[in-house]
Amino acid sequence: MAIKILLVEDSESQLEFLRVGLAKNGFEVETARNGAEAYKKLFEYLPDIVLSDIMMPVIDGYQLCRLIKNKDETKKIPVILLTILDKKIDSFWGKKAGAQLFLSKSIDIEELVKNIHATVRRYPVTEEYKAQIASQVTPDNSAQSQLNIILNDLLLKSVFANEFRNLSDFMNYERILVEKLFSLLSSFVEYNAAGIYFASPDDFSENILYIDTLGRNLSKSLLSDIQYDFFRKLEEIKPIRDSKFEVVRILLGKEMEYNFNDMKSKIIIPLVFDKKLIGGICFYTKSDIDYSSFRFFDIMISELLAIFKMKYQYTEKEFMSVLDGLTGLYNRRQFELGLEQEFNRTKRHPADFSLAILDIDFFKKVNDTYGHQYGDYVLKTVADLMKSSFRKTDLLYRYGGEELVMIMPETNIEGALVPVQRLRRMIEEYGFDYNGVKAKVTASIGLTMNYVDFKTSTELLKSADEALYKAKEEGRNRVIIHEGNVR
Ligand code: GH3
Ligand code: MG
Ligand code: MG
Repeated sequence: MAIKILLVEDSESQLEFLRVGLAKNGFEVETARNGAEAYKKLFEYLPDIVLSDIMMPVIDGYQLCRLIKNKDETKKIPVILLTILDKKIDSFWGKKAGAQLFLSKSIDIEELVKNIHATVRRYPVTEEYKAQIASQVTPDNSAQSQLNIILNDLLLKSVFANEFRNLSDFMNYERILVEKLFSLLSSFVEYNAAGIYFASPDDFSENILYIDTLGRNLSKSLLSDIQYDFFRKLEEIKPIRDSKFEVVRILLGKEMEYNFNDMKSKIIIPLVFDKKLIGGICFYTKSDIDYSSFRFFDIMISELLAIFKMKYQYTEKEFMSVLDGLTGLYNRRQFELGLEQEFNRTKRHPADFSLAILDIDFFKKVNDTYGHQYGDYVLKTVADLMKSSFRKTDLLYRYGGEELVMIMPETNIEGALVPVQRLRRMIEEYGFDYNGVKAKVTASIGLTMNYVDFKTSTELLKSADEALYKAKEEGRNRVIIHEGNVR
């Protein structure tokens, strides 16, 4: 059976030249003068291959090709595009449009024939496939309306992606970013409650699920059920410490109470990048919805990932330059800044503040006996105990290797002694256990305060060091107050 070619060319002389040349070589040829006509004939003539010019009125070669390739019923028909000039941009668009081959019009007939045979051999169109095409109704103006659908879709996608990209301006303003995200998401996703969570590289930071209820007054128990449900799902990726929720968009006060069980559909999407949990979103609805099947789901996820990734990396950078990686405490540089600041502040506005330095006892021995990793574990645990025994307003730092310091604003020696002693006792009593290896550890602490005698913050720091030295001397596992401080 002869190979059927649908030849598309707007120039009468070109068309005739090619038609005759191809017919002579045993092909069956049907012709069309533009893309729209060709698209219509496709369904009636059922060709094995389409050979098309690019520059044509009404619908050009690229558009015709895209139309054919966009439809499951026609996409298997191979398309060869012919161009006058060998321009790179033509080849680019030809590929984007899904053409199988791209040939120069100046090619001689034998070469063209060879290429057609090769293409048809490579992309054969079966009789069954043709029968399927034939069973399609050919709607009037179908080419133009199909093109409009493709164009509208492209336009929507780019507008949609653009909306997300505009949010990057609010990267440093979490609350605003969250509000903007909710307002965007609620414009195309149906939900009764939605949640957004940004993970932080800092394990000790608060984990907040921001919730949008579309301004409705949902019960607190429903919201905390959502919070629980959401974080439990995310726990599959990474353990999450104390989480809480916060309702973001204003409550109008209208009573609209649902139960958690009223929520028929839900979707929880953890956002992961580079194996790190960078956040998550969730939607809950009373009606039956298959969230994953909605139109822009894939684009939404990839745009959200981009935003969350940007935010995570931003926080990570901030965080890394301020905090010590092992303990999560502020680093030495921050300590120097903090001490200087507090010292100067209390010079201008007289007020007490205390300073304590902690040094783990016989830490070298811990490393030598159990290994450096064990030492790291001890250090991190002591830092954690420290975080739990001080006020939020106290400033905690890793000063050096295994030396941790505490600045306690608005606190005199008597006041400082309480949490400092408590910490010392907690360390002493703590059952250190790493991979089943148990150990006992103690620490010594030097305590001082900003008495008027100290002219500089360096002097103050030195007095704490001296007290620490004394604590070591007197047998360790104790708190010593700098003697110059006794009034
Ligand atoms: P003392 O209580 O008398 O001070 O005895 P010590 O063994 O603690 O003596 P020193 O403070 O001089 O030794 C501290 C050791 O802590 C030295 C170092 O190997 C170890 N060290 C410092 N930083 C780290 C760290 O980040 N991880 C681990 N595993 N060890 C550290
Ligand atoms: Mg030391
Ligand atoms: Mg030590």
